[in-house]
Amino acid sequence: MYEGAIQDLIDELGRLPGVGPKSAQRIAFHVLSADPADVNRLATALRKVKDLVRFCTTCFNVAESEQCRVCRDPRRSNEVLCVVEEPKDVVAIERTGEFRGRYHVLGGAINPLEGIGPDNLKIRELLFRVGTGEVKELILATDPNTEGEATATYLALLIKPMGLAVTRLASGLPVGGDLEYADEITLGRAFEGRRAV
Ligand SMILES: [Zn+2]
Repeated sequence: MYEGAIQDLIDELGRLPGVGPKSAQRIAFHVLSADPADVNRLATALRKVKDLVRFCTTCFNVAESEQCRVCRDPRRSNEVLCVVEEPKDVVAIERTGEFRGRYHVLGGAINPLEGIGPDNLKIRELLFRVGTGEVKELILATDPNTEGEATATYLALLIKPMGLAVTRLASGLPVGGDLEYADEITLGRAFEGRRAV
């Protein structure tokens, strides 16, 4: 235990995901000895992410204006909609270069143990988008783990009766993992090999 500002920083860092007490202490002392210009850049980046970044009003991806870059791009197809859990999954899929449609970011997956049900996700907004009739295929690209599968199954049951093709990424993705950890080639192949559910 230290006193004052250094302990405050250790405490705040320790609340970040994936940062244990030892890492928090190491980072705090790194900051203490770092060049003031570097620390200022970090502080500015932290403030800017809260001030400037918001969520796209259409797909709920991260955006710096009303709509995100994907939604603003007129060259992309409105007929294929890819449903993902988090903005980081959009980045992972964009990296494959396989997809030229639009996205819908749910903001998580159904997880009863953590009290996350369908109402906590952007599912109502998804139904609204699908309901306009423009979407011909819905790709369920939730994570290949228990929560992601449960979410995909729930959405398939809900949306298939609306008369559009509903597909799921092909197997070959590491089971139990996160979409973002799949390499570009594996994820690209899973995209090409998607199948109807
Ligand atoms: Zn968007």
